[in-house]
Amino acid sequence: MKVLKFGGTSVGSVKNMCNVKDIINDGEKKIVVLSAMSGTTNQLVAIALDISDNKPNEAIDKINKLHESYFQTIDELLLNKGLNEDVKEYVSGVFNFLVECTYKNFSETLENQIVAQGELLSTYMFNSYLKQENINSALLPALSFMRIDEFKEPDIDYIKSKFSEVYNDTADSKIYITQGFICLDGNDEISNLQRGGSDYTATIIGAAIKADEVQIWTDIDGMHNNDPRHVENTKPISNLSFDEAAELAYFGAKILHPQTVTPVRADGIPVRLKNTMNPDAHGTLISNSTSENGIKAIAAKDNITAIKIKSARMLQAHGFLKKVFEIFETYKTSIDMITTSEVAVSLTIDDDKNLDKILVELEKIATIEVDNNQSIVCLVGHSVVNHQDTYKLFQILQDVKIRMISYGGSNNNISLLINSKDKIKTLGKLNNYLFELVTL
Ligand code: ADP
Ligand code: ASP
Ligand code: MG
Repeated sequence: MKVLKFGGTSVGSVKNMCNVKDIINDGEKKIVVLSAMSGTTNQLVAIALDISDNKPNEAIDKINKLHESYFQTIDELLLNKGLNEDVKEYVSGVFNFLVECTYKNFSETLENQIVAQGELLSTYMFNSYLKQENINSALLPALSFMRIDEFKEPDIDYIKSKFSEVYNDTADSKIYITQGFICLDGNDEISNLQRGGSDYTATIIGAAIKADEVQIWTDIDGMHNNDPRHVENTKPISNLSFDEAAELAYFGAKILHPQTVTPVRADGIPVRLKNTMNPDAHGTLISNSTSENGIKAIAAKDNITAIKIKSARMLQAHGFLKKVFEIFETYKTSIDMITTSEVAVSLTIDDDKNLDKILVELEKIATIEVDNNQSIVCLVGHSVVNHQDTYKLFQILQDVKIRMISYGGSNNNISLLINSKDKIKTLGKLNNYLFELVTL
């Protein structure tokens, strides 16, 4: 069986929902994972923020506007009177719940409950739409099988056993619709897999059921060789290895949640990226195959903080780096890049929630310098470190200040740390000289 995930744009309008229906209605049994309609999760996050800022009226205003837009979509999507009324009743229940939330004290759990509503809305609406079109479908509630543990890792044994329970209860259906993104945590409270997490839901389910393939359907024809939001003339890549895809997703290619390939790579379950608006395009196939050497794609990750830890006296001492790493471990903050010299070590983090506390500890053992607003630009490709183009990098980027460079951590990745204000220029230059064959 295959698992097909459709993102926010794919379910973001009646026209696109109709495309999704045509794509999935081929007579084969399948699991369909849906995101919230595009824009909804952002609105829900904004509503939660209003509540935490003690601005209930602004939250209610947003809730009413969103409610109204859902009613318009329902009127366009569901011409069947009974289904139209049923879905409106469900949707009103969700919006009444959101209004009730504005009277409550803000907490992380409340925020998680609020942002979970987007996927609950889209799946209920879409399942009703399939009923209207006489397609045999069933809703599998993600909150009855998707769970993460205290380290925010999917609890695969739990997911496998609970998924097969809910699946077996509805085993005579053709299409199983479930919510992406949302899950329970170790205390059985509503939680989520972080923004963009529906991709991750799809591969977690894919691994749990040992799917033949996981397909991620979105608004672009696969993984491009550079960020299409910032660079012109980017091109889709037809094949990627799991390693290459993992590096690109982790280092900022927004098309994939950073953890997307993690659950499926051990079993070699292929992941195919496809365009809902152009289903005939080849897209990208992520699989075990390895490809030719060379720089295949570039991605960038923002909001990086660089920390330089200087200690002429202690750096060479045994155990100094251990002490440094222990401080980051205590505050559950992972390190992305690291470089060392005789007198200093520089490293980067992307989660600065506990930065103040980390700095207090670090200052006890060294002198610290912090640079905010940094971006990691990452060049990815099979054996990229050995490729003939690699020697050109410093020449291409001679007028960009490179703060750190990571080479050889894996053969598939070279990462550069630059100031975020130079990001677009850097991506453009790399694109011209590496992919458009502009000569130096
Ligand atoms: P969905 O809502 O379907 O999950 P996303 O917005 O999360 O879609 O991901 C698709 C978007 O990712 C594209 O529209 C594109 O702007 C952006 N993107 C960023 N980097 C890349 C890349 N290297 N290749 C393709 N798309 C990318
Ligand atoms: N709806 C969630 C988000 O916007 C999850 C997803 O779209 O994958 O982040
Ligand atoms: Mg996404």
